[in-house]
Amino acid sequence: MTNHAHQQNQRPLKPAQGRAVVIFGGTFDPVHYGHLRAASEVKEALSEAELRLLPSGTPPHRDHTFANAQHRLAMLELVLKNHPDFTIDQREILRNGPSYMVDTLKSIRQESPDISLSLVLGQDAANDLDRWHRWQELFELCHLIVMTRPESASAYSAQLTPQMQQRSTQTQQRLLAYQHGLVLHLPITQLAISSTDIRQQIQQGYNPRFLLPVSVIEYIKNHQLYR
Ligand code: ATP
Ligand code: MG
Repeated sequence: MTNHAHQQNQRPLKPAQGRAVVIFGGTFDPVHYGHLRAASEVKEALSEAELRLLPSGTPPHRDHTFANAQHRLAMLELVLKNHPDFTIDQREILRNGPSYMVDTLKSIRQESPDISLSLVLGQDAANDLDRWHRWQELFELCHLIVMTRPESASAYSAQLTPQMQQRSTQTQQRLLAYQHGLVLHLPITQLAISSTDIRQQIQQGYNPRFLLPVSVIEYIKNHQLYR
């Protein structure tokens, strides 16, 4: 029996085996409640999956990060100590050279060939997906979970629109059932918090409390980051 939904995609969907993995990437420079709340809601929507926070090593689209990889990782570890349902994937930090997401996903795929693997993206990042290095290959490696919010509309380019439409699924069950190639738009509470704003507040001598965990604020103070 073929499933109609399979035929919408260029290739048939492959059934997944083993525990699903969801990748929440970011620079986490520093990690804040916007990231953590969003990750938590994704985790609740796909509760069977392992949710991995994946700090970027050398982001190809930025000149530099403000705190080095070891600090960014240490801040994540501090937060997750009390939240063991999230894990950290360190592979980009351990690898040298620019961290292209397509290479990162390939490396995860090699470890777990048959799992359901998803990459979480904000709507802004998803709108720009066709500027990513070898972006078409992403659908052969993972599903996309696009975090939407009422006030920011999707603005896909002419070449992205058909991909996003044809691969679209309404249910997380389908994401978990298949290995890769689907797109789920998931409404997420977007808190108006950004690492950029937190770094600026610290630099200008303001107190960033309540925007990020106390343990992270303490770490930033102790290591004199972002000044
Ligand atoms: P910067 O200001 O340095 O760009 P950032 O706060 O945007 O940092 P990133 O590390 O770039 O954080 O974001 C990682 C991921 O977290 C992205 O998918 C992004 O869409 C998401 N994200 C960032 N801030 C929020 C927020 N306030 N609410 C929900 N998701 C967020
Ligand atoms: Mg950002």
